[in-house]
Amino acid sequence: MRDLVVIGGGPVGLATSLYAAHLGLDVTVLEPRLGPDPAETGLDKACGEGIMPGGVEALAGLGVDPPGMAIKGIRYLDRHHQVQTPFSGGPGRGVRRTALHRALLQAVTATGVEVARLAAADLAQDDHGVSIATLRARGGHGPALQARYAIAADGLHSPTRRALGLGAAPPRRGRGSRHGLRRHSGIPPWSEHVEVHWSQMGEAYVTPVAPDVVGIAILTDRREPFEALLGSFPELWERLDGAPAVSRVMGAGPFRQRAARRVAGRVVLVGDAAGYVDALTGEGIAVGLAQAREAVRALAADHPDGYERAWRRVTWRASALTQALVWATRPPAGRRLLVPAAARVPGVFRWSVDALARPR
Ligand SMILES: Cc1cc2nc3c(=O)[nH]c(=O)nc-3n(C[C@H](O)[C@H](O)[C@H](O)COP(=O)(O)OP(=O)(O)OC[C@H]3O[C@@H](n4cnc5c(N)ncnc54)[C@H](O)[C@@H]3O)c2cc1C
Repeated sequence: MRDLVVIGGGPVGLATSLYAAHLGLDVTVLEPRLGPDPAETGLDKACGEGIMPGGVEALAGLGVDPPGMAIKGIRYLDRHHQVQTPFSGGPGRGVRRTALHRALLQAVTATGVEVARLAAADLAQDDHGVSIATLRARGGHGPALQARYAIAADGLHSPTRRALGLGAAPPRRGRGSRHGLRRHSGIPPWSEHVEVHWSQMGEAYVTPVAPDVVGIAILTDRREPFEALLGSFPELWERLDGAPAVSRVMGAGPFRQRAARRVAGRVVLVGDAAGYVDALTGEGIAVGLAQAREAVRALAADHPDGYERAWRRVTWRASALTQALVWATRPPAGRRLLVPAAARVPGVFRWSVDALARPR
């Protein structure tokens, strides 16, 4: 019987398999969305594509060095104010999701980990191990896989979280309905900072990802097309100056997803599957990598229950800061006052950015 099956081959699932392989575990990853030649394309997903310094460091520790653009810090802007702060440690990096996926997949393949084009369909467990029924990406049943443990990294709407009954009550009506849309523009980046443009409608993130491409992610509770949402950020619209769209619009949400627990017997949850607050502070990948490391350590020590505590330790800071910022900027007055307030007390802004940026 293999040691571990990882359900989901997004960034956190692939990193999980690398941590496991580095500890000598025998691991298989399941990912149904892989194309026939995944090394060529890489999986895409709606994302702001800014990897925080702690995430860049964690990737380097796994031998993964994805191509992208160095990010020196964060800049907040509204119509009348702007404030920026540098990361006090090393730089972050803007990386196209496809490039990140390709780099991770290359490392995983080089380590000899099997990545199967299968979806987990059902899961049963006893005192000795886990049995996972699978479906083939093109339909039809796949093989049943046995492992001592399973780690689910199957994303925001994790089917595993649901199947195990680990999902917590959904947020109250009218709350938590924020989602994100992203598209890329063919224009040289004009800043080495991730820009966060604030308006009453939401936030627009601009992340440099290549010498001639910026990614634009809009976070909002409005249900409107990307182009209409972009029009609510006149300075950004002007700056883009009719630059061509170089990717299609992709969306994800609602952001707010909760898990009552992250451990159910021999199965544990990592990444977005383990619960998510909002993309507002852009640290999902960095936090997910830290969770992956801790989950593998707990299972390698045959102590899955230990992961719950480790998860809280590596997640609470980002979770609390993100929740506080979402809450403070929900009322229109909060949105209006945020950028001027950050400009007035730059020390607090710097402290918050650093708290999110540093390694976990
Ligand atoms: C608009 C937006 C902007 C964001 N901006 C940033 C940012 O700037 N920086 C940052 O760090 N984070 C950002 N995030 C968050 C970041 O994208 C996520 O935290 C990250 O993708 C989580 O990775 P994951 O591997 O947990 O999940 P995912 O990337 O969602 O991967 C899950 C994988 O599981 C697979 N899967 C699903 N079901 C099954 C199944 N049954 N069997 C097998 N596999 C399955 C899916 O195909 C998928 O590939 C943003 C998110 C959004 C939506």
